[in-house]
Amino acid sequence: MIVAIDGPSGSGKSSVAREVARRCGLTYLDTGAMYRSVAHACLSRGVNPEDAPAVAEVARTVRIEFLPGEDGQRVLVDGEDATTQSRTPEVERAVPPVSATPEVRETMVAIQRQFGAAGNVVAEGRDIGTVVFPGADVKVFLSASPEARARRRAVQRQGGNLATGHDVAVDADAERAILADLVRRDDYDSSREASPLRPAEDAHRIDSSELSFEQVVKAIIELSPELAARAEGRRS
Ligand code: C5P
Repeated sequence: MIVAIDGPSGSGKSSVAREVARRCGLTYLDTGAMYRSVAHACLSRGVNPEDAPAVAEVARTVRIEFLPGEDGQRVLVDGEDATTQSRTPEVERAVPPVSATPEVRETMVAIQRQFGAAGNVVAEGRDIGTVVFPGADVKVFLSASPEARARRRAVQRQGGNLATGHDVAVDADAERAILADLVRRDDYDSSREASPLRPAEDAHRIDSSELSFEQVVKAIIELSPELAARAEGRRS
């Protein structure tokens, strides 16, 4: 079965998708990490993220590998651990033009579909329910207010994780800068021509602003009898 979880940055989709996959015995696919990896590879190879033909070539030749890590997943880009580097502000600035390049999307979508062909996947991103797996068994569009999303990201940058209740103090200026960055990236992702961020018509919409991590995970599992049965089967 295929579960598609889309939504803007900071909506909590990565933690939620990973947990739904774990509870239901499905494989987790983080497509944002793939676009980040291409952006990271562009920066390390000295390629301008706005130079579409050069960026397309990077996407075709870069080697992206996911490995299980202690705290989530590790990403190797061309054989080197890029888990931390792919979340830096430099990569965050480079990723929108990279991911808006149609040839990059074609290459990434082909890899994502190969991954899905093996079945039993929870894939998260921006265009999973609309483009990558339009026939997904369960589609979710997870959103939250920009303020709630900026707060989560700010806490995450300081080593905390609101999804697990690990709150830490954050600098108000840093949080404001994250909010501005996030709104800019959302605008870019939603208004680009190639696969803009938008909910699939048949997606279940969940606003996580006022919900706990556990409530969101449960709400998704309860959307599908098959997911509920899988989660139940693994508990007993
Ligand atoms: O989900 P995450 O914030 O890691 O995604 C990073 C960036 O990758 C997004 O801002 C977006 O530009 C791009 N992306 C995309 N399509 C996806 C997943 C991510 O364009 N399916």
